[in-house]
Amino acid sequence: MKTGAEYREALQKLHPNIYYMGEKIDNVVEHPLTRPHVNSVAMTYDLAWDPECEDLMTATSHLSGKKINRYTHIHQSTDDLVKKVKMMRMLSQRTGSCYQRCVGFDAMNATYSVTYEIDQKYGTEYHKRFLKFLEYVQEEDLMLSGSMTDPKGDRSKTPGQQTDPDMFVHVVEKREDGVVIRGCKLHMTGMANAFEMLIMPTTGLKPEDADYAICCAIPVDAPGITHIFGRQTNDSRKFDTMDQGNVKFGVVGGETMTILDNVFVPWERVFMCGETDFAGMLVERFATYHRQNYGGCKGGLMDVIIGGSATLAEYAGVAKAAHIKDKLTEMVLLTESMWACALSCSADGYKLPAGDYYPNPMLANADKQLVTRNVYEICRLAHDIAGGIIATMPSDKDFDDPKLGPWVQKFLKVADGVDVRDRFKMLRLMENMTGGTSLAECMHGAGSPAAQRIVMTKQANMEMKKRAAKILAGIEVPEE
Ligand code: SF4
Repeated sequence: MKTGAEYREALQKLHPNIYYMGEKIDNVVEHPLTRPHVNSVAMTYDLAWDPECEDLMTATSHLSGKKINRYTHIHQSTDDLVKKVKMMRMLSQRTGSCYQRCVGFDAMNATYSVTYEIDQKYGTEYHKRFLKFLEYVQEEDLMLSGSMTDPKGDRSKTPGQQTDPDMFVHVVEKREDGVVIRGCKLHMTGMANAFEMLIMPTTGLKPEDADYAICCAIPVDAPGITHIFGRQTNDSRKFDTMDQGNVKFGVVGGETMTILDNVFVPWERVFMCGETDFAGMLVERFATYHRQNYGGCKGGLMDVIIGGSATLAEYAGVAKAAHIKDKLTEMVLLTESMWACALSCSADGYKLPAGDYYPNPMLANADKQLVTRNVYEICRLAHDIAGGIIATMPSDKDFDDPKLGPWVQKFLKVADGVDVRDRFKMLRLMENMTGGTSLAECMHGAGSPAAQRIVMTKQANMEMKKRAAKILAGIEVPEE
């Protein structure tokens, strides 16, 4: 297992082609824009060495029998699934941000079971290849970027019907030694500071779209790859001090647009190539694993927002007001209901044919669906409690300016005994955690709300529900 320092050191040996606002980022560990995201991932490495967190942060490899970072583990029980979401709630409380590693973790678990099932049907060797790759990931304790979302172009058309065939990543050449792929992946969480990307299809596919059924692993700095780092609300604050809000870990994951311009992938790194009938399964498995996370990941972030709101209320001298207490309790209820889904889908998980474990899909999708609503409501309440100053406060430069600073500090002062600098810092943290990119991430991360509703409709077993109602109403139903 690596430490956070070893993770940073290993990252510096890579040479990914990353740009931000037209300029190349030469060192993601040091650059002010990417550094907070690196710090956040480093926590997933460091806490594995902390005796207090070890039980959640580590596991025993079912391949080597060695102790490994949980982020490289294949779930072997429902207990593993429960520990996964508990680990995330704890990490979110400690970072107040996205630690990005979950996407690759979920991609690995989904690929593990799907490659097994492809081999069962077609007698291929994908699972064997994937196991070799997995051993390498566990041994080197690597962070992967799970790479699913394609640009998709015209949504009314299938991949093969697009005017531009590159709207979905596809195989452009099959060679004796491997394949060449082209296209783009969007919203790539953690890509800037990962070691490898695990490419998956973004949608279910028809037989005529075989070139789009590609799953493979590629180093992030392979020839032909260019990453463009996305803008976030308030990202220029990363160059400031107190205005940054979360001074060490930043906000959200730090996403890239990743362009794959004729990238060669050797066969030993290819885990699906043309098996269109398994593309939908891979998408659904990955999505369910990632939706499982959200009550844990956002649950921990909401803990921080609730704590920040309660602190601001105390600073302002209104903590005892009944309406403040009621708002905080409502925030707790909304948080715990997301958490209940994350825990229950994990505890009610089941074994897949490959022997690994999978969360209950209905509850995992309900978990993510709640996040798309509850987080907005919690943030609304946080803004209510914080007051208008959350949106209008002068900058940290004014706060410390020799001429303006004394005025800013005098007029931001609240209850006696409260350091005005602490109030400033907390307001900035709340501003950054409750608006802009953070909210949009809760809506669309792990798939947009409609995607969850499709799965929930499929899983709802409406016939059973109608039958139950008819029996109770005394309506005759056929014997089962
Ligand atoms: Fe992990 Fe949450 Fe970030 Fe997804 S959004 S990668 S679950 S921390």
